[in-house]
Amino acid sequence: MRELEILFLGTGTSHGVPVIGCECAVCRSDDPRDQRLRSSIQLRTPEMVIQVDTPPDFRTQCLREGLRHIDAVVYTHSHTDHVLGFDDLRRFCEIEDKNMPIYGSQRTIDDLRRIFAYAFSEEYRYRNYIRPEPTIVDGPFRLGETEIVPVDLPHGRMTTTGLVFSRGGERKLAYFTDCAEVPDAAIEAARGAEILVLDALRYADHPTHMTVDEALAVAGRVQPGSTYFTHMCHELGHAETEKNLPPGVRLAYDGLRLTL
Ligand SMILES: [Zn+2]
Ligand SMILES: [Zn+2]
Ligand SMILES: [Zn+2]
Repeated sequence: MRELEILFLGTGTSHGVPVIGCECAVCRSDDPRDQRLRSSIQLRTPEMVIQVDTPPDFRTQCLREGLRHIDAVVYTHSHTDHVLGFDDLRRFCEIEDKNMPIYGSQRTIDDLRRIFAYAFSEEYRYRNYIRPEPTIVDGPFRLGETEIVPVDLPHGRMTTTGLVFSRGGERKLAYFTDCAEVPDAAIEAARGAEILVLDALRYADHPTHMTVDEALAVAGRVQPGSTYFTHMCHELGHAETEKNLPPGVRLAYDGLRLTL
């Protein structure tokens, strides 16, 4: 294995694409890249498998990719489209009879404790339950040889944890999903990363997500090796949208693997 592999498990917004009951051209498209499960990535390094978020489609994503081992889960925030697959982590605890380390902001871990109270309860410990081992993220931390720098991203009333992953002192990946903008501190933290992944919901303004044009402006400031958009809605057909993007900027799609 190379130093780092990034696997896109899902690249869709909270509805997923196709959207239930929608008959637009993208929802009816037969291009497989227009089928987007809810957003999530997995990072594989020679020593660790790091899962980012567990969306409602997590089980489907695990089966599609044949996943059977995860060392740790890092959460960006606690919106339902990023956490509702949490309970499916139990299978990874069961296979290897182990606890599952989970990382997130105070707010994220508090919300997980509230939503999945049974999983955190010391009283009801059944063998097949997920066994979370939470760590509050309040500064840079390491998982194996990977250094992870968290940055705050505004997302309506929520703050999302943007994640910058470095190895051997080199910025490999900045993963900024679910944000209305990328503040200066986050731009600095990501500057020059090999891969930049950005929230780009659609063309029209949205109060809690970036548009394609806003994401392009962020990419211009970060100056990464290449940029991939994620968390896209059904207004962005893959082939059509990519035609209008500048060099070095692509749309991610479910199942895309990047090896660094
Ligand atoms: Zn989301
Ligand atoms: Zn549609
Ligand atoms: Zn969100």
